[in-house]
Formats: sequence, C-alpha cells, structure tokens
Amino acid sequence: MFGRAPKRSDNTKYYEILGVSKSSSQDELKKAYKKAAMKNHPDKGGDPEKFKELAQAYEVLSDPEKREMYDQYGEDALKDGMGPGSSSHSPFEIFEHLFGGGFGGGNSRGRRQKTGEDVVHSLKVSLEDLYNGTSKKLSRSRNVLCPNCKGKGSKSGASGTCYGCRGSGVKISTRQIGLGMIQQMQHVCPECKGSGEFISERDRCMLCKGNKVTKEKKVLEVYVEKGMKHDQKIVFEGEADEAPDTVTGDYIFVLQQKEHPKFKRNYDDLFVEHTLSLTEALCGFQFALTHLDGRRLLIKSNLGEVVKPGQNKAINDEGMPHHQRPFMKGRLYIQFNVEFPDSGFLSLDQCRTIETILPCKSTNQITPMELEECEETTLRDVSIEEQMRRKQQQRQKEAYDEDDDSSGPQVQCAQQ
Ligand SMILES: [Zn+2]
Ligand SMILES: [Zn+2]
Repeated sequence: MFGRAPKRSDNTKYYEILGVSKSSSQDELKKAYKKAAMKNHPDKGGDPEKFKELAQAYEVLSDPEKREMYDQYGEDALKDGMGPGSSSHSPFEIFEHLFGGGFGGGNSRGRRQKTGEDVVHSLKVSLEDLYNGTSKKLSRSRNVLCPNCKGKGSKSGASGTCYGCRGSGVKISTRQIGLGMIQQMQHVCPECKGSGEFISERDRCMLCKGNKVTKEKKVLEVYVEKGMKHDQKIVFEGEADEAPDTVTGDYIFVLQQKEHPKFKRNYDDLFVEHTLSLTEALCGFQFALTHLDGRRLLIKSNLGEVVKPGQNKAINDEGMPHHQRPFMKGRLYIQFNVEFPDSGFLSLDQCRTIETILPCKSTNQITPMELEECEETTLRDVSIEEQMRRKQQQRQKEAYDEDDDSSGPQVQCAQQ
C-alpha cells in the first residue's frame, strides 16, 4: 500500500498539461483542451507526443469517476485499471469525438454534397442489334467508397485539414521572373493531392490507405431494345465513380450504330438499293432480299411494270421496329438502279428490232430540212475524273462571280 501513497506530482500533472486549476469545471476543461489540442494537432504540424498527452489528460479529467480516482491516487491508479497507455481511445478519437471532424467545425469541407460527374461511353452496335434487340455484358472497374472505412479514409473516422494547403487543396508558389516581376503559380497540393484533408499515417485505413475509395470490378448488362436509335442513351443511374460527400453520377452508354453495308436507316424507315439489269427493268424481275433478322423477302415486280432508274418502291411494315412498340414497324424503301448494257452489246439488226418494239417518244425529231442546216459534231467520252473536276469548278464558280468565264469545253462548243 505504500506504493499507492499519493505523490504531489502524480495528481497535478494532467491539470498542468491542460493549463487549468484543480477546481476547474468541465466546461473550462473542455475549452482548455480544445485550445491546446488544436494548437498541437499533428495535422497542423504540432508535436504528436504533446497532442497525445493532452488527449490522455482530457480523457481522464472529463470523466468524473476517473477524475476522482486521479485526484486521490494519481496516474498509477488509472494505469492499473486500464492497462498500458492508460487510455482506451486514441488521441485522435478523443479529439474528433469532441469536435466532430476537422478544425473549427470543418466548414471548408462541410457536409455539402457535390454532384459527381457522369461517365459517358459510346457503345458500338450494328443495325441488326437495333432491329432485333440484344444485350451486351460489359465489365468495367470504378471507384467505390471503401467498405472498410465507409469512405472516411481513417480508422477513427476522422481527418484534419491539410497543413500544406490549409484545406484549399491548392498551393500557390511565387517566383521572380524579372526585375520586380513576380509570377504566381497555382498547383494541386502535393500533400493531400487536392483533397484539402490530412489523415495521419497511423490513422489511415488499411484497405484504402487513406484514399477513401477502392476499385470495384462489375459487369454491366446493357439491354439494347428493339428500335433504339443511333445516339440514344442507356443510363445506369448512380453507377459512375463514387467519391466521399458526392452524389454519384450516372454511367451512360451512347449507342453508336455502325454503318451497314446494305441498309440505311431514317427514323423507323429502312432504305436499300437494288440494281436491275435493263431487261429486268423492262420485262420484270424477282429477287430475294435478306432482312436484318435473317428472313428472306421475295421482292417481285408487278406484271407488265417498267422500273425507271432511281425509282423508289416501298414495302409497309418491313422497316425498323418502333422503340417500345416493336410490333409497329416503318417502311422498307427500295431504290432501283438500272444497269444498262455496254456499248456494242446490240447488233444493228437487234437495234432495228428493238426500235419496232419500243415506242419512239422523242420530241427532238429533226426534219430533213433542219438536218441540212446543222453542223456535224463528234461526241467523246468524259471520264469520271473530268466530270468530278467540272462539278467542283461549277461549285466554285457559283461561290464567286458569275461573270468569271471558265466554262468547260463542251459548253463552248455548244455555243458556237
Ligand atoms: Zn478505407
Ligand atoms: Zn493539401
């Protein structure tokens, strides 16, 4: 029992640490601790040992039972009861418990919810996908709030203000660039990587190492519905990266339809080109068209019908399905090209025969009298390149002055 004899230094040390009298009230203790702890917080560059001492002293004195024990028997009595370290909580826990987070209420960070950014991804689909509907599984990894610390980054759930930037997340440095000229540079605080917060080494969450977030791999199943369109968005709400105090943004897929070799689409209508031989155009045709779902459509001309180059025909209900009402479909338009035979295909005799069959509707018949007055000319072939060049010249000409006379050789011939 001699060892337990109270010694003067034993039951005054805590009061001295906090700088209060032995008769101070709870309120005074609290104020004194707060002031001293803020000043000595390691996050602010204070001495960790001093900070720990303050917490220890405050923890004991703020508890009436412990305070009484301390007053009577000193520090050793508490050690016996609570094991080594004489404190059941870390100094950070005590500090945060009292002040609920950073310094001065942590107004700079607050509880304000930011809005997280959406993640937008394009998703390539074929026209077949949009016609038939499909689902695609896409694996992606994203940041989620660390499940271990629930996004706090620390074991104690506490963090302080970064002393490197005083919580602003940016640092301003100045340098002299000339005589009396000073350039100010702003850059992301390297200490906190822009978060404005500091979590002491020992308090850092083991799993996320204080980053507050961890990576999560997840497979998203994207349902491309029948009739969806190019540029249409498929939204996965709240599936973007998670971040603390942030309303998680959406993960958005934007459909990008790949060009189809055969079909073109305009809203719910489909367009396809088909080339007929001259004989088919004149005498009738039938052919099979493989649709986007693999069905084979039999397409045939009406009896006695002549199809002209560039003519369009349509089939009802064979276009694209209407989105969300896929039983309703647009039209399938077929544009007919007519391929004429090459020169020299017909003999003179055959020509005479055709002339007897085909109606001669030409309105520019020339009388023998007129023929006398005409000058002879020779038609020559114009290459595709030349045609293109002429078209381009035409457009340039239209864009400039009409007086600019650079018309092609054919026009000049015709004017003579
Ligand atoms: Zn964590
Ligand atoms: Zn910082």
